[in-house]
Amino acid sequence: MQTCGGEHLYKVLVVGDLGVGKTSIIKRYVHQIFSQHYRATIGVDFALKVLHWDDDTVIRLQLWDIAGQERYGNMTRVYYREAVGALVVFDVTRASTFDAVLKWKDDLDAKVTVNHGKPLPAVLLANKSDQVSIQQPKLDSFCKENGFVGWFETSAKENTNIEEATRCLVEHILANE
Ligand code: GDP
Ligand code: MG
Repeated sequence: MQTCGGEHLYKVLVVGDLGVGKTSIIKRYVHQIFSQHYRATIGVDFALKVLHWDDDTVIRLQLWDIAGQERYGNMTRVYYREAVGALVVFDVTRASTFDAVLKWKDDLDAKVTVNHGKPLPAVLLANKSDQVSIQQPKLDSFCKENGFVGWFETSAKENTNIEEATRCLVEHILANE
């Protein structure tokens, strides 16, 4: 497979507990909007972001929002199929959502791999960083120990680090081709 040039379509999963800001991050990233009042839609939602990565590479990121099913804490294999990367989101104001991060990572690793068994590249997002944060351990070692390719403090509200986090993920996706 080519490593650069041409057009790529990538399925990216956005997972994490209810209310952490998955839908807000996607709306911010794709539509440049933020609202306090998203309803927890039921079903699966997609958004498409087109990146002009370089002079001869166009990347279409298909972002999958789990929309209401996150209350079960896992998704089906069918849902994860063909995904090439993931954003795992927690809410810095709610410790329980950080505790759930490993559950989501394990679910991904159990159900989807890329390139003959390699784990799906996943970036950890510490969202709502515009709010008062519960004490967070430094996430560098956490990411290393648990197989995340990186982490970012994000805010969908203030548009902080969402582009950077996605860029990091795309770089790892491209490196897997
Ligand atoms: P989801 O269930 O993970 O999709 O979470 P939502 O995107 O629906 O967000 C849940 C709530 O958190 C909504 O009221 C959002 O407005 C709010 N929210 C999401 N991201 C942020 C953020 O970065 N900062 C703040 N302050 N609120 C946020
Ligand atoms: Mg949502």
